[in-house]
Amino acid sequence: MIKHFFKKLGFSSAPFAGGIQPDMQKWTESSAIEICPLPPLLIVPMKQHIGQACSPLVKVGDAVLRGQKIAKAEGYVSVPVHAPTSGKVIKIEEHAIPHPSGMGLPSIFIEPDGLDERDTSLQPITDWQNMDVGALRERVRVCGIAGLGGAAFPTFIKLVQDQRNPIKTVILNGIECEPFLTNDHRLMVEHSQKILHGMQIIMHMVGAKQGIIAIEDNKADAIQSMQHAVDDANIEGLDIQVRVLPTRYPQGSEKQLIEVIIGKQVPAGKLPMHVGVICQNIGTTQAIYEAVVLGYPLTERVMTVSGDAVPNKGNLLVRLGTSMRFIYAQRGLENFEGLQILHGGPMMGERLRHPDIPVIKSSTGLLALSQDFFKQAHAVEEPCIRCGHCSEACPIGLTPNLLADHCRNEQLEKAADYHLFDCIECGACSYVCPSHIPLVHYFRFGKGQAAQVRREQNFAEASRQRSESRDTRIQREKDEKAAKRKKVRATHAPTPTEAEQGKE
Ligand code: SF4
Ligand code: SF4
Repeated sequence: MIKHFFKKLGFSSAPFAGGIQPDMQKWTESSAIEICPLPPLLIVPMKQHIGQACSPLVKVGDAVLRGQKIAKAEGYVSVPVHAPTSGKVIKIEEHAIPHPSGMGLPSIFIEPDGLDERDTSLQPITDWQNMDVGALRERVRVCGIAGLGGAAFPTFIKLVQDQRNPIKTVILNGIECEPFLTNDHRLMVEHSQKILHGMQIIMHMVGAKQGIIAIEDNKADAIQSMQHAVDDANIEGLDIQVRVLPTRYPQGSEKQLIEVIIGKQVPAGKLPMHVGVICQNIGTTQAIYEAVVLGYPLTERVMTVSGDAVPNKGNLLVRLGTSMRFIYAQRGLENFEGLQILHGGPMMGERLRHPDIPVIKSSTGLLALSQDFFKQAHAVEEPCIRCGHCSEACPIGLTPNLLADHCRNEQLEKAADYHLFDCIECGACSYVCPSHIPLVHYFRFGKGQAAQVRREQNFAEASRQRSESRDTRIQREKDEKAAKRKKVRATHAPTPTEAEQGKE
């Protein structure tokens, strides 16, 4: 029956193993994207991507323009940061970022001047088809683009042509399988042409001829909108199709999506490029279009604001650096007592301690859930009854109950043997567990512990190497001094007298 259904939709492969069908609660799927007003203060963290943090290029008192580079990338895995509007730098100091620990990072505080004047130093590139792909890649880098699906990996790194791993297929990830989130959905409905244009730029950059726009079947209007864009566009020489997939979580996870689309698994420790594919998020693809065709660095993003405690839910176009408290207030929520607030979706997002945190490039959504609502999902933990539901749900084929035991008992080597590091933290196992065991929390804990052990081992190894090289240096210096003394003694030794010579 399922096989027949897939055949009808033109699938060549079966769906990925495991997965679940959570209550999607896409309450904002029909809410058009609204522009969030500029706040009175923007707080721009120096790290909004995976990789090294940036260093500020401005000082207190400087005037900045929208899109002006205000922090430079440090190292290869990093992208610069830009001013989200025009105004004045009033402070540079540490401020909390979206992270469950409440940790802080150096941030630039900008007081908007209300003019929103743009820096126009980057010229639009309309004839990108005739442009060197290296120059286009550099444009994506200097515009600070990082994956807007939540991972925030610097995008330019993925946009390469490698003779050893030629890219045949570009997959646009329009799955958005996290409950509540509808930001990519609305972008596809409202900005399909820009997204398709961005996809063509990506295909040109990586040299791919096949493009697949993957969308789950719970987004009929997005499917229609993207299909119209494809039908109307001039895409000669490229094979671009919209592919409709049955709704299933975590299908939006890169490796699961690739498996569904091309029928091949990305081996553990390898990248999609090793099977001839790259995946791009919908928002990121639109940002690539704006960077190349309009010359706009990344200064804003679309995010969903939802949850039962938000009176006026919706999808908002928000400047990076806007305080989450300001956004909630725009949507009618000011009192957070007893609420759970989440950055991202309920499955893979982070629980926040307070809303005085700025929006960053990875901010897909902001949720506020009442205790009653949250309790349904997070009831009291009970003992494992060995039902095996978690293993059935795991898309990677792990045994989450055993893995959790090892993480809980800090048996990290055993957890590694049970493939802890292959876990994508999708939360599908926690979702189906009848004993309400927060399995994914144990995995995050286990990974954190393992990282700590690794750091300590690296530190111990570095100390050992330092101590060894110190001992070697001291010994070398001793040997050199001894050799010198010997030489001096040999030079200044008295010449034996004739009498003395005679004694010999
Ligand atoms: S969180 Fe990890 S163990 Fe649980 S289902 Fe997802 S991949 Fe499997
Ligand atoms: S689903 Fe929960 S109760 Fe069932 S085996 Fe897994 S951890 Fe145990």
